[in-house]
Parts: sequence; structure tokens; C-alpha cells
Amino acid sequence: MSEFKLIDLFFKSLSDIHPATKRDDVLLGIGDDCALLSVPDGKQLAVSTDTLISGVHFPESTSAYDIAYKSLAVNLSDLAAMGAQPAWCSLAITLPDENKLWLEDFIKGFAELATKHKVQLIGGDTTRGTLSITIQVMGFVDAAKALRRDKAKVGDDIYVSGTIGDSGLGLQQVLNNPLHKSFCVSRLNQPTPRIELGESLVGISACAIDVSDGLLDDLEHIIQQSCVAAEIDVPAVPLSAELQAHYAGHVNWSEVLSAGDDYELCFTAPSRYQKNIADLQDQLNLPLTRIGRIVEGSGIECLENKKKLDILKTGYNHFKDKA
Ligand code: ADP
Ligand code: MG
Repeated sequence: MSEFKLIDLFFKSLSDIHPATKRDDVLLGIGDDCALLSVPDGKQLAVSTDTLISGVHFPESTSAYDIAYKSLAVNLSDLAAMGAQPAWCSLAITLPDENKLWLEDFIKGFAELATKHKVQLIGGDTTRGTLSITIQVMGFVDAAKALRRDKAKVGDDIYVSGTIGDSGLGLQQVLNNPLHKSFCVSRLNQPTPRIELGESLVGISACAIDVSDGLLDDLEHIIQQSCVAAEIDVPAVPLSAELQAHYAGHVNWSEVLSAGDDYELCFTAPSRYQKNIADLQDQLNLPLTRIGRIVEGSGIECLENKKKLDILKTGYNHFKDKA
């Protein structure tokens, strides 16, 4: 199969085979040197890219379906963290070979999430080499309303959505047994980008980040860029039933607070919005848990019953110890 046949068969045809991903604001899609897109008046374009490399960002045993789903999900999660509504994406894919069954499965996983959020694939690049997927997502956010890392204010409450630490356990489980199935493995392979939450937070919150590298590492970005400090009530951090069962009453908080790949949102909001956030939790049927507050100073203090807890941070960093 030539590169062009492969592009036609799997990528150009995607929006015909899955018409729910087709959008009116795509003036020219796949097939020319560039796509042509129109941005609505009064909106800003939010753009983000993430690469996933086999053996680094997902175990080599991961199915093509899950690789596609996760690649799109982690990108959409960045839009969620800005409060943006997804619109388009491009896909640069490097494949070791032209495995038709693998590609069919990949497209299925991709289309499932693209359909859910009405994201149209509008271009990309196809090359041969070690399996790697780079997606760029583009979305819309009301002008000057995006949720930014530098907008936390002293006195704000700190919240997280969903539960924390599941994907970390899921990764341990599949590394021990690639066939293992569990809630935590599904959280690892098919994370849920919190798009509706991000969009709903515009106007309530000014500051958010998605938890990709570990809650403490990601919160650190907020406090550094906002020039503030944070206090975390560690026992308030929400854990799933599966994670609680795993720890059987002896939670390893260093592990939980450093675990990556959860793709929940960590956001701040002034305390006058507590009722709005409680309502939003019911409306989205998604736990939104207050885990601490923004204070003056610098750094993150981890507390248990108002006493300081020593937490080892081991969040993932691609270039750590490689000076
Ligand atoms: P060029 O050589 O001009 O970069 P290509 O031959 O790489 O163009 O690609 C042809 C068309 O197919 C372009 O519109 C490009 O955006 C699209 N395309 C290539 N690979 C992919 C892919 N993996 N997913 C989506 N679109 C792709
Ligand atoms: Mg090209």
C-alpha cells in the first residue's frame, strides 16, 4: 500500500465513515497542503499538541484501539483544562509497518472519542518508524475567558474532579499482567477528557490544569505561575473504591499524589462559588472535591488533621536525571 492509499483509506475517509465528526467550519479538509478552517466571531482559538511514544506513554501491549483513544483523550484534556470546546485535530503518525487490521482498530478507537466530542480530523502526516502518535487539537474559548495556570488567587479553594491515582495502579496492573482488566486499567487506557466540566467552569473558575504528571507536580505549575502557595488536606483527596481496596486502609499518599495519567482537572475558585460547584457536580454526575486552598507564599504544604505530612514527589519527567 502506498502512503497516499493508506491516507485515503484510513484518514481521509474517516469523516465520511463517521459523519458525526464532520463540521461546517471546515472549509477544506484532508487532501490539500493545508486545511482551511473558520473560527467563530468572539472566540479565541485554543491549540495544543501531545506526542505518545510506544513503550514510554503506553505499554507496548496496548491495543491499537486504546492507543488511538488515549492519544486523542490526552489532547482533548488540554482543551478541557483551558475551558475550550473541541473543534478540530490533526494526526501525525509514525508506523513500523502497514498493518491493516491494526489501523482499522486504531481508527475505531479514534472515531469513538472524536464522535463524542464532534472533533473533525483535518490533516496530518504519515511516516514509517517506531510507533509514535502526535495529535494537535484546536478548540474555541470565549475571548479572555480561558482557564489559565497563572490565575489562582489567595483565598481560592482548590478542587479536583473524579478520583486520583487510578491510572498509576492501572499501569502497575498491566505491567504485571498485560491481560489484566479492571476499573484502573480502563482509566489508564481510556481516560475521560473533562470537556463538559472545563466548559462549565468558565465564569466560575479562572484557573485550571489537567492532572497528567501527578497532582502535586501539576498543582506546582499553578502556584508557580500564579505566584502563590497551596495547602492540601491530603485525606480529602478523592480515591476510587478500587484504589481504596488496593491500599486496604494504608494509603501511600506519595504514590497517589505523584501518579500521572489521570486527566482529571485541578482548578481553583473563590469560596463564593461553592454552591455553583456543588450544583455542577450533580449536573455532570462527577465528583468535584475541595482538597485545599490557595494561600500567600510559595510551595505546597501537605496536611493531615492540620499537621504537616512529608510527601515524596515522584511525578514523571522525561528529562529527569539525564543532565
Ligand atoms: P504534504 O506532502 O503536502 O505534506 P502529505 O502527502 O503528507 O502532504 O498529505 C496529504 C494530505 O493528507 C494532507 O492534506 C495531509 O494533511 C493529510 N494527511 C497525511 N497524513 C495524515 C494523517 N495521518 N491523518 C490525517 N491526515 C493526514
Ligand atoms: Mg506531509
